[in-house]
Amino acid sequence: LIKFDSVVKRFGDNVVLDGLDLDVNAGERVTLIGPSGSGKTTILRLLMTLEHVNGGTIWVGGRPFSHMYRGDKLVPASEKYLREHRKTIGMVFQQFNLFPNMTVRKNVTEGPVHSLGVPKEEASERAVELLEMVGLADKIDAHPTQLSGGQQQRVAIARALAMRPEILLLDEVTSALDPELVAGVLDVLREIARETDITMLCVTHEMAFARDVSDRVFMFDAGRIAESGPPEQIFGDPHEDRTKSFLKAVL
Ligand code: ATP
Repeated sequence: LIKFDSVVKRFGDNVVLDGLDLDVNAGERVTLIGPSGSGKTTILRLLMTLEHVNGGTIWVGGRPFSHMYRGDKLVPASEKYLREHRKTIGMVFQQFNLFPNMTVRKNVTEGPVHSLGVPKEEASERAVELLEMVGLADKIDAHPTQLSGGQQQRVAIARALAMRPEILLLDEVTSALDPELVAGVLDVLREIARETDITMLCVTHEMAFARDVSDRVFMFDAGRIAESGPPEQIFGDPHEDRTKSFLKAVL
């Protein structure tokens, strides 16, 4: 479903991704682990079109994503093309970024109504279902400031799912939370992994979660994949020294 083909990303002289190849299958749950600064978040930001590639091509669903066809030539994608294509992708950030002046219901229905043209009533019914799934149906008329960080993050997850994305990107979604609120958010994500066939890419420092939900773990080091494999192998029998030393430091 997602393919990075020799992707290069630089910030000034800092080459963050240097010809990265990466494939994620439809319905797969993938976690990206590795030291700070190794380029994990940059991969998600490229998929959200918050950054643009300096080389190589990103493909989603067999279609060029970072690029578009002009005749039979690939050229960098226009803003209009990107806007259309990024609708298939939902993202949840470390900071929840809810709209503070809107109720929980409005936060969840705003995107579908305004960007997808879903009728208000239908969007509202779907919001109730999603808020039930994240355990917050009783907070539907509350404002974000009346919620704990963990609850806000669960609303942010419901808001992302309301857009019916094919792909859900999760960027360290529990890092800003008090420790006692982390479990509730991870439980919701486990349930989504169980109940839906959405493709998930998670950057996480929660190794137990990575072990639980992923089909495949990618260990990053300095903008390249040092090792990838099923969680049992990566955590139980890592082959690369870089993976061994990283896991030793964080576990
Ligand atoms: P962390 O676990 O700390 O989030 P990461 O593996 O997600 O790390 P990235 O956030 O992808 O790493 O960053 C990779 C490198 O790119 C870092 O050296 C960072 O300083 C640099 N970088 C990221 N975004 C920008 C930016 N907008 N401008 C300049 N440099 C950036």
